[in-house]
Amino acid sequence: MAVIGIDLGGTKLLGVLADGGEVKADAKQKTPTQGGPLAVVDAIVSLVKDLGGPKAADAVGVGAPGLIVPGTGVVARAPNLPGWVDPFALGAALSDLLDGVPVAVDNDVNVAALAEHRLGAAKGEPDVLAVFVGTGVGGSVILDGELRRGPTGLAGEIGHVVVRPDGRLCGCGGRGHLEAYAGRAGMERRARALEAKGRDTMLVDLAPAKRMTSSVFARALAGGDAVAIELIDEAVKALGVAIATAVTLLDLGVVIVGGGLADRLGAKFVSRIEQATRSQLYGEAGLRVAPAALGDLSGAIGASLIAEKAAP
Ligand SMILES: [Zn+2]
Repeated sequence: MAVIGIDLGGTKLLGVLADGGEVKADAKQKTPTQGGPLAVVDAIVSLVKDLGGPKAADAVGVGAPGLIVPGTGVVARAPNLPGWVDPFALGAALSDLLDGVPVAVDNDVNVAALAEHRLGAAKGEPDVLAVFVGTGVGGSVILDGELRRGPTGLAGEIGHVVVRPDGRLCGCGGRGHLEAYAGRAGMERRARALEAKGRDTMLVDLAPAKRMTSSVFARALAGGDAVAIELIDEAVKALGVAIATAVTLLDLGVVIVGGGLADRLGAKFVSRIEQATRSQLYGEAGLRVAPAALGDLSGAIGASLIAEKAAP
């Protein structure tokens, strides 16, 4: 069965034409910076055309950032997509413009976790926590081989669990959440605040006004920058607290760590997270914390997997 999977990201759209998770073709486009949901719909339609059009696929799947109302194709909130303010029925709008082909929509982190579970680092495991460390921190839980979404779609949102009561302000407005310590955006805010207080750091020298990317963090770490080392130490510690809590609560044997920052910092970063997690575990569980295996394409491949389920 041929299906198309689209990973709708804050900066780019990645698409694959796939069969059973095997990629036959891929294509990409920039995410429109203006025009809100309608501009995004146009960009997805054009990407689907680049991959052979609606006739080439039995269904289309989309992994979208933000809060998706389970089973409806409605993106309720998408703070990382410009102009996406009100809930929008993305699935229905796309299907209309794609000759009625079925369109499934799920959260981008959920679909990436599905891909890792079906084809990547967690293949064959019944129970998995996937944590994606990038601009923010996303998470997803698979129990007994099934994605756990929860009635409001928030299951697995490990980025917004508290790792330090009354701690640092999170992008969501809460305090002490994991994402404030381990998300790239939270770490960037902290680095700029420390620099403003007089700490010298390569992080700001390398990204004076532009976004402090994952590569900037990697270069500053390699250069022995004290602020970068401190921020990554805090991130590892916070990830260890949150992951150990989830592992103990659910008795998990495998945790997958991926996302832009984790991919860039590599296996050493993931192994530090494993140590930080193990040091706080209750009991002697044979826990494995492994790097995600599918990299950049995990979201698009995962989106193709939800498309397979939606196909007639
Ligand atoms: Zn938060």
